[in-house]
Amino acid sequence: MTSPNGSSGMGLQGMWLGRMRTNVSDRGMWGVVSWGFGASKSGRTVCPLVGRALGQLMGGEVRGADRYVRIVWGHIVRGATIETMTSLGRHTIFQNSLMSALLDGIYDGEMTIGEILSKGNFGLGTFDGLDGEMIILDGTCYQLRSDGSATIADLEQKSPFAQVTNFVSKIVAKAPKGMKRSELSRFIDDLEPSGNYFHAVRIKGTFTNVTTRTVTKQSKPYPPMREAVGDDKEITFENARGIIGGFRTPKYAKGIGVPGCHVHFINEERTSGGHVLDYTVEDAVIELCPGTDMELHLPLTADFAAGNLSPDDIDEQIHTTEVKG
Ligand SMILES: [Zn+2]
Repeated sequence: MTSPNGSSGMGLQGMWLGRMRTNVSDRGMWGVVSWGFGASKSGRTVCPLVGRALGQLMGGEVRGADRYVRIVWGHIVRGATIETMTSLGRHTIFQNSLMSALLDGIYDGEMTIGEILSKGNFGLGTFDGLDGEMIILDGTCYQLRSDGSATIADLEQKSPFAQVTNFVSKIVAKAPKGMKRSELSRFIDDLEPSGNYFHAVRIKGTFTNVTTRTVTKQSKPYPPMREAVGDDKEITFENARGIIGGFRTPKYAKGIGVPGCHVHFINEERTSGGHVLDYTVEDAVIELCPGTDMELHLPLTADFAAGNLSPDDIDEQIHTTEVKG
């Protein structure tokens, strides 16, 4: 790379400064200025003179300036990379174990509900032995069993799989009436800034119907999940008020989670619910909480260590166990 003035034969410091001049665009220069003054992008209107002065400084014979300039250069690179998505803010989603571990029949975990709740006040998952579906709302963990019941889980109970976050409602939209699960997923795609991030999803309101399935408690030796869901229970709630909550997972994270929307339902009375297979919106509001960071907790159990977590037919297994047509 050469400097704009085509100079050559420079020493290390000179070469580096030449590279700086080559790459400093208008946007980059604002990056320099905002760093120098600790200002945000709003500082653009007051900094042109300072920006030009700094540009002259870098282009001139200023000794001892390279250390300062190196720091600024790092800022330019970072600023250019994240500039368009900084409005998202950083937000962590915590996950205990993997979806592919559940598929493999690893149904006993090492984390307690109390430990999981310390990682977030919103989420979903399941319980040891696949004993029902989990939904966490406002810091309360509910256990939705195959008999149709919903109870508050004990803090000492354990879970082999859970995704949680401290839900911050950053994107809110009214859900169009009549929308079904597949259509609503596309609607959420249009709402979210990018499908390349995780999103916690909360849909609250009235549903014409919600069809759920609930896994049943398994006995050892545990069968793989596609066999375990053979005797799960399906329930259709008509004219139900309640909350559908869960996560939208990018396709690249297949196996870590369930790609697409994985959501659970609990009714307003908090007496029943399950893993959502389909639903039709009557009158509801959708809230999204984008997740940019993931804390992945892998179990230190012998079952997990020995599991087959990358099966060749993972697409088919996920479809059979989570979508069911
Ligand atoms: Zn589920």
